[in-house]
Amino acid sequence: MELSFTSKDLEFRDEVRDFLANEYPSHIKEKLEKGDMLSKQDLIDWHKSVSNKGWMGYNWPKEYGGTGWSPAQIYIFQNELGLAGCPPFIPFGVSMVGPVIYSFGNEEQKQRFLPDILNFNTWWCQGYSEPGSGSDLASLKTKAELVNENGKEYYIVNGAKTWTTLAQHADWIFCLVRTDSSGKKQEGISFLLIDMKTPGIEVKPIITIDGDHEVNSVFFSDVKVPVENLIGEEGKGWTYAKFLLAHERFGIASVGASKRQLLRLKEIVNDLDDESLTDKVSQLEIDVMALEFTELRLLSELEGGGNPGAESSILKIKGTEIQQRLTQLFVEAAGEFAVPYGGPEGFMSNVKPNGPEYTNEVLSKYLNMRKVTIYGGSNEIQKNIISKYVLGV
Ligand SMILES: Cc1cc2nc3c(=O)[nH]c(=O)nc-3n(C[C@H](O)[C@H](O)[C@H](O)COP(=O)(O)OP(=O)(O)OC[C@H]3O[C@@H](n4cnc5c(N)ncnc54)[C@H](O)[C@@H]3O)c2cc1C
Repeated sequence: MELSFTSKDLEFRDEVRDFLANEYPSHIKEKLEKGDMLSKQDLIDWHKSVSNKGWMGYNWPKEYGGTGWSPAQIYIFQNELGLAGCPPFIPFGVSMVGPVIYSFGNEEQKQRFLPDILNFNTWWCQGYSEPGSGSDLASLKTKAELVNENGKEYYIVNGAKTWTTLAQHADWIFCLVRTDSSGKKQEGISFLLIDMKTPGIEVKPIITIDGDHEVNSVFFSDVKVPVENLIGEEGKGWTYAKFLLAHERFGIASVGASKRQLLRLKEIVNDLDDESLTDKVSQLEIDVMALEFTELRLLSELEGGGNPGAESSILKIKGTEIQQRLTQLFVEAAGEFAVPYGGPEGFMSNVKPNGPEYTNEVLSKYLNMRKVTIYGGSNEIQKNIISKYVLGV
């Protein structure tokens, strides 16, 4: 097992650092440092800066316009972004639907959709979960019925998706829909691309406990979708959905971002003279280091051509638990200044604490981060996956 980087990898790391020092938009950096919310335009600017550099397809093969980077380069890139405090990439285009399109789509679909993903001209969202179908995703009910109108075929889509992240900004949604209810539930699912401007789509906000508008309900009433928006074969959507969920291995644990947060937390706690809090921070630092080595072990296996099994699930569980512990320790450090807090606009935003500046956002971040052990396959589901791989049950 090789855990150190080659000199070529280190040169690449310097190139990424150079990009982040010179081309990462300064207005975004300033907003994040102050703990301000990013607007839609900020997020577009951030992604465009990466696109302009030619790095949007950081995890894509060269033949589809990607970088063709090695696992080590992808790892370094994501780690450096986290360490620099960049906003996470919106994954729905580049890490989710893009790889499905270039792996299972036809030529026309590749030409039509991939360049806009790489240039961040289209904002995608993910329509998997439904009310009643989250962990048991294959039970989904949104129905797509094939009809023929004047010699042209369409799917008529009816149903509801939920928890759809940033659907309020999205141009397109990729959806799992039911095209057949007769056989096993996994067999009647298809993968459909839907233009969000199509008549019959309604997006309603879900305001989360931190007062933020990040997720939505999306309703479909007789939405007419051209048959050429079907990816691959009808009824094979479950295979494509599983491919998509397994695609991203690194980044899931957010080690770079956690290391950055940890440094800030240590600075704060050093000034507090609180032994019990210092102990907790030290334990967390050990766990972050252990997580980093787990990632590096996975990287070493991938670089050696291996095909690891349960590691993504291990990284998801440990990484998200660490992210939550970090936000909890920030709240503990802030003490009484954590509450009441100036939340996002419209929610207690007029109530400001009198503590140091960092205390303004600790509680909203703590509340927001409750999501990470739920989305992307809840941590309980990840434990089931690990038990299947490791114990065979
Ligand atoms: C902030 C946020 C953003 C999201 N964004 C999106 C998005 O953009 N697109 C999208 O499609 N979905 C999205 N989701 C949905 C997410 O994928 C689901 O919430 C998740 O899959 C869990 O499903 P559920 O909420 O229906 O909970 P349920 O499946 O009802 O689970 C409830 C609880 O039971 C546990 N549980 C369920 N089954 C088992 C089992 N077999 N063994 C052990 N424990 C079990 C779960 O772990 C959980 O704790 C998002 C969710 C959140 C919170």
